[in-house]
Amino acid sequence: MQVEKKVQFNNLLVSNLLKIAFSTSRSLLFQKFLFPIVEMGIKNAVKRVPGPVALPGVIEDKYYMIRAMVWSGLRVGSSSRFADTIVNKAILSDLRARKEAEFRAKFGFDPPGFMTISPAKRCNLRCRGCYANSASEKDQLDYEIFTRVIKEMRDYWGARFAVISGGEPLMYRWNGKGVLDIYREHPDSLFLMYTNGTLIDDKVAGIMAELGNITPAISVEGMKELTEQRRGKGVFERIIRAMKILKKHRVTFGVSITATRFNAEEIVSDRFIDYYFGELGAAYAWVFHYMPIGRDVDLALIPTPDQRVYLWQKSWEIIKKRKIMFADFWNHGPVSDGCISAGRPGGYFYLDWQANVYPCVFFPYAAANIKEIYEKGGNLNDLINLPLHRKIRL
Ligand code: SF4
Repeated sequence: MQVEKKVQFNNLLVSNLLKIAFSTSRSLLFQKFLFPIVEMGIKNAVKRVPGPVALPGVIEDKYYMIRAMVWSGLRVGSSSRFADTIVNKAILSDLRARKEAEFRAKFGFDPPGFMTISPAKRCNLRCRGCYANSASEKDQLDYEIFTRVIKEMRDYWGARFAVISGGEPLMYRWNGKGVLDIYREHPDSLFLMYTNGTLIDDKVAGIMAELGNITPAISVEGMKELTEQRRGKGVFERIIRAMKILKKHRVTFGVSITATRFNAEEIVSDRFIDYYFGELGAAYAWVFHYMPIGRDVDLALIPTPDQRVYLWQKSWEIIKKRKIMFADFWNHGPVSDGCISAGRPGGYFYLDWQANVYPCVFFPYAAANIKEIYEKGGNLNDLINLPLHRKIRL
């Protein structure tokens, strides 16, 4: 009881300190005196949990990335509701640790930390080289399956983070319900939604602000010219409008970028960073090097080796000097101790609109269908014991 009270007190203290940090982050006092203390805390925490590869360079990379992540959240002044979701439900909750231990005792390895779910293939755009080959097809994930998967992730794995992708997630409709209903039904889970941004208006942004458990990552290809070359004419203005609306509602948002041979230089330029992060208020960026899958596979879009090195150098400059969370999945492998797919302890799975389950978004071979597993009386854990998934994991 005594110990429990101490934990509760500590949690209250940390949560209030972080809330003070969020509300005072733009003040000189915070930047000069308080942030160095936060930085020291991050440094110590990273050293204590070094991961499987405890090389000094790897620990240093992790420190700079986490520092940029914290700083990015503080810089944009996330709403207190969103801060509460991150602080109390993610950082301070012991649910994941408890469920992980239970799962490990039963199966002998760590459960997945999250799932990426594409509930609909439909999209209102037709981008060149779209990884999901999105179009007007009606294929959609049954809402009951969608919501059950998120509940089981939490109940069995203690995983309360889901990435929602597409097609365009905001086009998903099942018996009148959409993705916003999913976010509302799971208030203690956090959702990162990749979206083209064109369907975000005042009403949608207002709901996101009210829920406080969703952060949209809006796709851009660079500035106006490059964005419209790949996404279509007129799309840039709609994206910028969405970002301004999100900022007005204090919804923490980021950008999602596919690095190609044509935009590799622009997406790490000062002009790009100043515009999206400085002027429009994006908090973070996820960068994916173009993969030749999906629509009209085009090898000419693949970045060259020199461009990949350039992206690596410039992205670390942005992270270290400007303290912006600019995560390049391909170049920042050491931060996540390598590939994050299902082929490792923890890892993740990808669920598509037909209920097929893949080890990774970029690995187009499904070994299972969750609808069929559910129909046979199984659950999410039965996925992990399939031969392919066990084999790549252990
Ligand atoms: S890349 Fe995204 S926005 Fe473009 S067509 Fe594909 S799903 Fe739609």
